[in-house]
This record gives sequence, C-alpha cells and structure tokens, in this order.
Amino acid sequence: MKPGPLTYVRPKSVAEAIALLGESDVDAKILAGGQSLVPMLNLRMAPAERLIDITGIAALKSSEVAGNNVRIGACVTHEQIQVGAVPDPSNGLMTAVATRIAYQAVRNRGTIGGSLALADPSGDWLTTTAALGAIIEWQGPDGVKTCAADEFVTAAYTTRLDILDVLTGIRIPRLAADARWGTCKLCRKTGEYAHAMAMVIRNGAASRAFLGATEGAPIRLRHAENVLAGLRDWQAGHVSVLSDAMQADLASSTRQLKDIHIWQSRTCLIRAVQMSFGIPETRIESP
Ligand SMILES: Cc1cc2nc3c(=O)[nH]c(=O)nc-3n(C[C@H](O)[C@H](O)[C@H](O)COP(=O)(O)OP(=O)(O)OC[C@H]3O[C@@H](n4cnc5c(N)ncnc54)[C@H](O)[C@@H]3O)c2cc1C
Repeated sequence: MKPGPLTYVRPKSVAEAIALLGESDVDAKILAGGQSLVPMLNLRMAPAERLIDITGIAALKSSEVAGNNVRIGACVTHEQIQVGAVPDPSNGLMTAVATRIAYQAVRNRGTIGGSLALADPSGDWLTTTAALGAIIEWQGPDGVKTCAADEFVTAAYTTRLDILDVLTGIRIPRLAADARWGTCKLCRKTGEYAHAMAMVIRNGAASRAFLGATEGAPIRLRHAENVLAGLRDWQAGHVSVLSDAMQADLASSTRQLKDIHIWQSRTCLIRAVQMSFGIPETRIESP
C-alpha cells in the first residue's frame, strides 16, 4: 500500500516546525528518518495530511561537548553514532548499541530523536539513555522543556511530548573513565527489535541498571544497582544474588512481566553484568 495524499514541508528552524505543527487545518506529523513513520503511513496506520521534515534543521543535526555533558541533536542518525561521528560520552556503550539497531539501511536514516519520540518499548535508545542518566530536551509553543530520560516514557508509544512539541536533543553526562558497562539484547535475528534487554553501568555508588523491552518504560533495578555497587569481580555465586535482586525490584514495581519475559530479562541482566567484567557469554541455568 501507499500513503494517502500528503503535502511535504522542510522547515529551517525548530520555531518554524512548531508553527507548522500548530496550523489547525491539517493533520501534520514530524518526519525524521522515516524508518518507523513511513511504513506506518504506507499501511495507513498513522493518518497525516502534511509531513514536516525536520532533518533540514541544522540545530537538530549538530552535537557538542558542553562541560561534563555531550549534547546530541535529535536528528543525529544511528549511523553517525555507530561510526563515532559525534562525541561519545559513554566509553563506547552508545557505539555498541547503535551497531546492533536493525541493519545498515535503517541506521543510515533512523535518528536517535525519532527513536525516543516513537517510544517503542523495544527500542534501544530508551533504555540506553535511561541507563546513562541522560536528559531529554524538547521545544513547543510554551518554550523549552526537559526531563530525565527514565521519566520520559509514560507508557508504550507514549511520552511526555505534547502534540506540538519537537524533541530537540539529548544531554548525556560523561561516564567516568573507570566506569564499566555491559548490555545484552535478546532477539531471534541480529538487528531485530529486542524481546528482552538489560543495560548496566558499574560506577561504584553511581551504578545503574535497567531492563528494556518491557512493554512500557524501561524498568530501573535499584536492588540490582546496590549489588553492582559492591561487586569487585565476577563469581558464579553472583548469578543468584543478581536474580534475587531483580526479583525484589520486580516485586516492588507496579509493572507485571510475564514469566517468560522475567526469565529472558534475568538472562540479559546477568549477561550484561558479566560483560561489564569482560566475561564471555555463558549458559545461564534456571534457578
Ligand atoms: C526493519 C527495522 C528494524 C528496526 N530495528 C530496531 C531495533 O532493533 N532497535 C531500535 O531501537 N529501533 C529499531 N528500528 C527503528 C529505527 O531505530 C527507527 O529509526 C526509529 O524508531 C525511528 O526513527 P526515525 O528517525 O526513523 O523516526 P520517524 O520514523 O521519522 O518518526 C517516528 C515517530 O517519531 C516522531 N518524531 C520523529 N522525530 C521527532 C522529533 N524530533 N520530535 C518529535 N517527534 C518526532 C514522528 O512524527 C513519528 O511519529 C527498526 C526499524 C526498522 C524499519
């Protein structure tokens, strides 16, 4: 199928894009990389009469180091992150994540801002930016707004963005040089959306751990973070300690995961922690 009749505009500034979104006589949608939106338009699942292509806005394509943060524009592509064309605040985590998103053609056009705005629970950047303690920035008729990445998603495919808002960038604090990260994404074929995902950053008391692909916002694992803060090396006994910590996190959460999903998430968490210690993947037995 092909989309219904559309007009196409390419604003030169965020203010112009917001003004175009606000014109009430047309049903308008922002177009970034188009990798998720265009298939939805073709299937007529996302009605739109006007596409507002924001990829010509220079401010959304640039990235810069600002103090201890790196600010990445919303229209930076997965490919630019993959090849290191933007400053990396994450000691290589973001490069590794970009590399495993879909396949090269999608990475060439898909953007980090489009991925966050779409808020597919299985998307890689939601969990990554949450784990890195990033700040999401957006702009609308009421001015500039921000929130912590782990508070940006309110439900599957739902964020704090309002209908006239444009996600403008992501501010990511630099990881300490001695911080270690690990990540695991379970999917049947390389490059597919995840069935389960975990991301950990070992950084002493500032350690962070998240589960992704949870059918909603990434889930923060505070009990697991406490375990991570105390780990100095990897030992086989840590499998059960981390499993118990994750169970405690899920028990104290309002979110319900299916049993199979808990099992997959546990595997991801343990593999991510092992990776942070440089341990190769091993078979993880059931408890
Ligand atoms: C085959 C395939 C496999 C994929 N696998 C993965 C995967 O493994 N992991 C993963 O993370 N992703 C995956 N993706 C999705 C890919 O990362 C997309 O690039 C991404 O989800 C959307 O980014 P985009 O720039 O293409 O956004 P678009 O498709 O242009 O837009 C997506 C939505 O976000 C809105 N939007 C876009 N930018 C903004 C903005 N700045 N402000 C406000 N709203 C905005 C649009 O209006 C639209 O509703 C896959 C996609 C395909 C086609």
